[in-house]
Amino acid sequence: MLCIRITLREIRLPLKEPFRISSGVVADRRILLLELHDADGARTWSECVAFDTPIYSPDTIDTSWLAIAEWIAPRVLGATFAHPRDVFPTLERDFRGHLMPKAAVEMGCWALAAEKEGVPLARLLGGTRDCIETGISLGIQASPDALVQRAAAAVAEGYRKVKLKIEPGRDVAYVRAVREALPDAPLMADANNAYTLAQADVLQQLDAFGLMMIEQPLAWDDLLQHASLQKRLTTPVCLDESITSLDRARDMVALGAGRIVNIKPGRVGGFGPSLAIHDFCAAHGVPVWCGGMLESGVGRAHNVALASLPNFTKPGDLSPSARYWARDVVDPEWTMDAEGRVRVPLERAGLGVTVDVDRIEDLTVRCVTLGA
Ligand SMILES: [Mg+2]
Repeated sequence: MLCIRITLREIRLPLKEPFRISSGVVADRRILLLELHDADGARTWSECVAFDTPIYSPDTIDTSWLAIAEWIAPRVLGATFAHPRDVFPTLERDFRGHLMPKAAVEMGCWALAAEKEGVPLARLLGGTRDCIETGISLGIQASPDALVQRAAAAVAEGYRKVKLKIEPGRDVAYVRAVREALPDAPLMADANNAYTLAQADVLQQLDAFGLMMIEQPLAWDDLLQHASLQKRLTTPVCLDESITSLDRARDMVALGAGRIVNIKPGRVGGFGPSLAIHDFCAAHGVPVWCGGMLESGVGRAHNVALASLPNFTKPGDLSPSARYWARDVVDPEWTMDAEGRVRVPLERAGLGVTVDVDRIEDLTVRCVTLGA
């Protein structure tokens, strides 16, 4: 695998509605897309999932742009890799952090290798599923009733997991209202770091609602306090932000800091680390699932491929394109069937969807070509 050129673009995709989590509101998604080319004319796309401010992790659109142009692309362009799994170690050597831009390039290299070998990306990664159960993530609503309406609509659409974003003051009453309205629905909560261990008694009250899991309630980089919290909860803790590498997944298991992992390949540096975490979790009886970062259809293609691996046993946050975008940048758009499943596109090599280059050109606000 030999990547000779990366075209880096920023586009703006308007969301259908603003998405509110405990740390802020996203209305207009700035997205970094990469087009990668090899010497023989093969090309593919990848996406950097950073937000425009560091509300989720230290990476942002602008720091990622800088990191790719200055440090990441120069290590990859013109270098021959026997296998795409060799790309991440090259990006790790004496180069701290910047995991999302590293992941964008690394995942692009996997997709380029799949394109070149004529195999679906899902198969190159070792995926075994041909469809994936899908969950929805519901932002914090103005009232419990508003959340109940959203959750009921999601269940009616077929979603297999309904994630309720919570924050202090908008937690127990909100989750209780949804549980009372939907006694059998597969519900979970995601707090995006909004609590401290001093508020453990509030989180303990959520045990009454039979949640599949509660996701990352405490600090974004914490493990020890989550271990203390997990001891006090019957609901499994799922870690998201804190799991940035295989080592952190090992620490989670050693400490008992969580029982489920949300793997977002962008957060951990790409597919190589995602596969390592997947395999480690499988060996230790820890289920995983694939979370979302408000990706376009390009990032969705990468997530669907990853979520086809066998230990992705919980529904992934892989909502169809129409949930977020008036019009996506891929054809066909991502859809979900009435049973809440997304199909893995296995009949085509690479990403399995056609990237709408004309639409991306129209949406581009800046662009640079790196390499030959
Ligand atoms: Mg999360």
